[in-house]
Amino acid sequence: MRLILMGPPGAGKGTQAAYVADHFGIPAISTGDIFRANVSEGTPLGVEAKRYMDAGEYVPDEVTNLMVRNRIDEPDAEPGFLLDGYPRTLAQVEELDGMVEKTGHRIDAVLCLTVDKEAVVERLLKRAETDGRADDTEDVIRRRLEVYAEETEPLIKVYDDRGLVVEVDGMGAIDEVQQRIFEALDDIPQS
Ligand code: AMP
Repeated sequence: MRLILMGPPGAGKGTQAAYVADHFGIPAISTGDIFRANVSEGTPLGVEAKRYMDAGEYVPDEVTNLMVRNRIDEPDAEPGFLLDGYPRTLAQVEELDGMVEKTGHRIDAVLCLTVDKEAVVERLLKRAETDGRADDTEDVIRRRLEVYAEETEPLIKVYDDRGLVVEVDGMGAIDEVQQRIFEALDDIPQS
């Protein structure tokens, strides 16, 4: 199973990604988590990424693509993977196409979590209090939502034209959303 999870910042992607990946026995690959791990370890990749993350901007495609390529090449991703937060730009879509094609598989579905924009800002501000993420200040949250709308939302159409989009309402309790996701994924044939 090769899945992409899309949705604006604060849509609950990380939480749902863990359940779905666990269910299918595949790794959840979150580019945001990998960047954050590099930031806290102070690696050169982390130092580079932090400049962009703190401003709510995207890390350059070359950096992100190489990181995902290396992660997907690891043995645990051979049976499949769930991508959380990637691809986010058209260049990343094209790069991912190449990576998946090389393995002789294809993307099975693109799960899109839909949420109310204002509710998302509130959710993120609340997360800022509990998790203390450097990019969860109100200004940066609004910038991240803008960048998402400009660069990433249009990708839904790209995948929809390929017949891959599965839309799921991301509002409500975690287990309700989880239930909706599993119901929506039930009918997806696996490559
Ligand atoms: P996330 O945890 O997915 O919200 O990602 C946090 C931050 O990491 C984003 O605001 C970006 O700065 C960076 N990031 C994560 N994934 C990507 C990506 N696919 N392309 C570029 N930047 C990314």
